[in-house]
Amino acid sequence: MGASYYAYAVIGVEVTGKLHTTTKQPSCAHQPSGAFCSTCGKPNKTIDVETPIAGYDEDRATIGDLRIIHTTDRAKSFIGIAVGTRDLNYADDSHKRLALAPSEIATRVDDLRRQLIEIGLWDEASFGLWAVGYCSY
Ligand SMILES: [Zn+2]
Repeated sequence: MGASYYAYAVIGVEVTGKLHTTTKQPSCAHQPSGAFCSTCGKPNKTIDVETPIAGYDEDRATIGDLRIIHTTDRAKSFIGIAVGTRDLNYADDSHKRLALAPSEIATRVDDLRRQLIEIGLWDEASFGLWAVGYCSY
């Protein structure tokens, strides 16, 4: 076991905090009237429940065919056209090319914008080329 280091380049937008919806729900289903539920003993309060937005596969970190790239602490998330490389100590995996013909760039970005507008994640202000580090340990 050890640590694996990844570096990603993402042409896309930041989606931090936009991949889940939060709803308030009772802490148990018994509708208690006191401070604690007489059936299960849980405190009578509401809790925040996070639900992934439509299409977001948390295990695969994808929405449709788009990848979600998280930082190591998952504090920041990005979506878009992405390429990554791993174990930067090894020369044969120290770099990769995101094959984008100059004539394709506008088309790919337009397609990305259209897909992200459809799912409510397009954010013109955060669009750009992001460099994201990730450490798996
Ligand atoms: Zn209960």
